[in-house]
Amino acid sequence: GYKGPSYDSLIRVRKERLSPALVTYYSKPFAVHQGHMQWLFDLEGKRYLDLFGGICTVSVGHCHPEITEAVAEQMSILGHVSNVYLHPKVHKYAEQLTDKFSGDLKVVYFVNSGAEANELAMLMARTYTQNFEIISLRGAYHGMTNQTMNLTASSLYRHPVPSSPGFHYTMTPDVYRGIWGGKHCRDSPIQTNRHCTCSSNECEASTKYLEQLEEVYRYSIPKGKAAAFFAESIQGVGGSVQYPRGYLKGAYNMIKKCGGVFVADEVQTGFGRTGEHYWGFEMHDIVPDIVTMAKGIGNGFPLAAVVTTPQIAQSLTKAQHFNTFGGNPLASVAGMKVLEIIQRDKLQENSKRVGTHLLLELDKLRQEFPVIGDVRGVGLMIGIEMVAGDGSKTPLEPAKVMKYWERCLELGIVIGRGGYFGHVFRIKPPMCITKEDADFTVAVVKTALREMFSNK
Ligand code: PMP
Repeated sequence: GYKGPSYDSLIRVRKERLSPALVTYYSKPFAVHQGHMQWLFDLEGKRYLDLFGGICTVSVGHCHPEITEAVAEQMSILGHVSNVYLHPKVHKYAEQLTDKFSGDLKVVYFVNSGAEANELAMLMARTYTQNFEIISLRGAYHGMTNQTMNLTASSLYRHPVPSSPGFHYTMTPDVYRGIWGGKHCRDSPIQTNRHCTCSSNECEASTKYLEQLEEVYRYSIPKGKAAAFFAESIQGVGGSVQYPRGYLKGAYNMIKKCGGVFVADEVQTGFGRTGEHYWGFEMHDIVPDIVTMAKGIGNGFPLAAVVTTPQIAQSLTKAQHFNTFGGNPLASVAGMKVLEIIQRDKLQENSKRVGTHLLLELDKLRQEFPVIGDVRGVGLMIGIEMVAGDGSKTPLEPAKVMKYWERCLELGIVIGRGGYFGHVFRIKPPMCITKEDADFTVAVVKTALREMFSNK
């Protein structure tokens, strides 16, 4: 049982001693004490199914016993050594991680967080291409360091300080909410061609959004020369946003023509989460020049990485690049175990099987409840967009979103929120969840919907 400080004292310290800019979920904040695989336990010992996984971070399960054991063992042998020396486990992990990529993506820089990884990717792109301009999608989240805050194209995460030069944004090609969305194709077991009016294999929405991107190059980028285009394979924080088929491939071709590199932010979509593929970018039929990873790579252990080609990696040798914890033995041991567990326990296949089942079941609820505007995703990267329920796409009002979300917690599931209006529920659980867990999720979602939104 839990014997620590009282709930009230936790609230007080949170209010008085912790960052006031930190968002606290739920009107009665959720205090968590323990975790095991797909489960979280509150201070009273009540069990919850964790469908948010520490915001897409717990990839193979909370306190996975094998990771705990491997990290503890490493801690007793050598906890830290600077990466200016050689270390067999760091080297082994570098090989294993880069083996997960095809083509020339064979060199890794280890860092500690997603923002650091994207920061480094920007630096690499600029030193390699000798260009400066960087383009990202509105609504994207790529981190909150001084530079990545510019890449993160949402005012929710932009502090009122002057923006850095060299950042440009293009329309998010959002199939559901975007101006050309709703009628076009995307990659998902439930959404493919649902309302598609495209006359051929070419997606018309994709073409239109690419024309917008072309305009960014034409009007905003000096001499049309850019350093990088950044994108997640499915937007995470932005609200599980999926792009029309062919969009990222078109964006890839465009950045190449402008002398830049394509950076895939796989912080949320990597490591088998999308089920069909190990890396999210594979669903877009591209091979990026630089891939950034964090969160699920370490199952909660602070670890992040940038993988790129030997040529691009070389561009950083004009000065030293040093990072005290980047590539340390503990993180490497955790990272190796994650790779091993995903492979051995077939968690990518599980993401596909359980994720598809969950998507299809959740999608059925759209018929009964008009407040569900959209259900989307692939594998265990799922979004449920809540709307007013009057046939429009007006986001469900915040008070109702809040009440519904809190009811789900009471009934035993932890889900996330995203999108600019916070009205998209996000489901991205540890990849070990079972079909029974998915059925429980649907039962809770349905019960809460009936309580709040039933016409009967
Ligand atoms: N990229 C993406 C896609 C993310 O979702 C996040 C974190 N939400 C980051 C980068 C930044 O990662 P970190 O918080 O580890 O800096």
